[in-house]
Amino acid sequence: MATAEVKLSVGEFVNEAFVDFARPENKKAMEDALVKVAGEFGREYPMYIGGERVFTTEKLYSTNPSRPSQVIGVFQLASAEQAGQAVEAAHEAFANWKRVPAERRVEIIFRAAQIIRERKFELSALICYEVGKSWMEADADTAETVDFCEFYGREMLRLAGEHAVTPQKGEKNYLVYLPLGVGAVIPPWNFPAAIAAGMTAASLVTGNTVVLKPSEEAPAVAAKVVEIFYEAGVPREALNFITGTGEVAGDAMVKHAKTRYIAFTGSKEVGLIISEAAAKRAPGQIWIKRAVLEMGGKDATIVDEEADLDSAVEGVTQAAFGYSGQKCSACSRAIVSEKVFDSFVEKLVERAKKISVGPSDEQKNYMGPVVSATAMEGILGYIDVGAREGKLVLGGGRAAGDGYFVEPTIIADVDPKSRIAQEEVFGPVLAVIKARDFEHALAIANDTEFGLTGAVYSRNPEKIARAEEAFFVGNLYLNRKCTGAMVGAHPFGGFNMSGTDSKTGGKDYLLHFLQAKSVAEKVA
Ligand code: NAD
Repeated sequence: MATAEVKLSVGEFVNEAFVDFARPENKKAMEDALVKVAGEFGREYPMYIGGERVFTTEKLYSTNPSRPSQVIGVFQLASAEQAGQAVEAAHEAFANWKRVPAERRVEIIFRAAQIIRERKFELSALICYEVGKSWMEADADTAETVDFCEFYGREMLRLAGEHAVTPQKGEKNYLVYLPLGVGAVIPPWNFPAAIAAGMTAASLVTGNTVVLKPSEEAPAVAAKVVEIFYEAGVPREALNFITGTGEVAGDAMVKHAKTRYIAFTGSKEVGLIISEAAAKRAPGQIWIKRAVLEMGGKDATIVDEEADLDSAVEGVTQAAFGYSGQKCSACSRAIVSEKVFDSFVEKLVERAKKISVGPSDEQKNYMGPVVSATAMEGILGYIDVGAREGKLVLGGGRAAGDGYFVEPTIIADVDPKSRIAQEEVFGPVLAVIKARDFEHALAIANDTEFGLTGAVYSRNPEKIARAEEAFFVGNLYLNRKCTGAMVGAHPFGGFNMSGTDSKTGGKDYLLHFLQAKSVAEKVA
């Protein structure tokens, strides 16, 4: 079990370096990988249930949002019954996997990290095609995937074995962490490698078995990650892979009596459905399901009159429009002191005008498409609402091309209570709100149902200290942008309707996947 002696010795965790695409050899490697991955378009991917390859009659198609006629891959459409079979299979495999020494599980996860490193350009190319990430964003996703494996591996080594407790006279006592059982791992599409792999690696390294069901928008990247885990040595029975809809397959996984916990990252709406379903005991269920739920945000950047305005403009631009605003941490509200409001908006519009939008496989494009036609329609609908609620100062429509391209859009003079200032849009749309003073800015920033990330730009140390105390978010950034959390350095997760604050990439994360057993033996 998880009590295995720990002998594996490893160096300190360091983040995987980002690829410098200015170097000709890296540019060439990425171009070659894009060609290679495009050569595999249209491939059919099986599901894996209990180690068997499973195919269904009905299929799910993953397409390229930059060029929607391109089919990236053909996937199976799991029924609720098949999702149940996957949970049963994972339950059966738990008996063996939990007995694999922690060190061995860690070695396997480290091996997975090494394989990803060796094939990083290919994984990034697939991310770029399937979910429309630019080269740099795709590389950051891949690097974070490596980081999660390396970080959680080290954390498991720390948690494995017997832990000392307060000595008790006449007793030999200790505490040990045990795995939970079957985890239903349900990731979103926006970090298709990092989040899918992160929740899966955390589950497996702690000795749990998994049913992974990726987002309908990103099954190919997840399938690649699963293939890498198998290659690294994860038994197929311990990692079941099913594809299909959230409403059918995801729902069945969540509700199954043998599911021990749910690791979910996605929208507030679905997170709440899962929270409610997980709380209800299924017939035959003998535990209370744990639900680790990481959800949406309405993240704000406060720009104070004492800020370095140019730095604030750059930070807000990157956080609002990087990956077309499709990050849970994306800045969707800039709350700006009235003393600098006009000059900030003017500079911001000038900066955002320079953003190039187009197919994400072309290195020159900073912003690719949004993920799907449905997402695009939803975002354009929000822009209509926002343009009525405030003043449209940039963008406002589709950008040129066949893909789902939306212009970087800025809406100024927005009322803090308006929909565009309260609801998660998940697209390249920024609301700019005027604040009377710093306290007013903080009050506006905190006045949503979310609490994920936030940033403050100010040169005044007292205001910075005040933000540290009063800005109610899981991830606060001072004089830097509110996106780009690094594993280890910025444990990630939010308050309120942003989720259960599990702090991915942090030292507390694996405890969500473990239960502690206290042992005391009377000795003479
Ligand atoms: P989503 O909620 O639509 O889907 C997430 C996953 O849930 C998908 O795999 C989907 O198939 C599944 N699902 C849908 N309905 C289900 C149901 N009834 N039962 C079980 N599973 C179901 O989210 P998305 O569009 O994939 O991702 C975007 C959202 O994720 C945004 O809200 C974003 O803020 C959030 N997000 C949060 C974090 C974080 O760390 N807090 C990170 C990334 C993304």
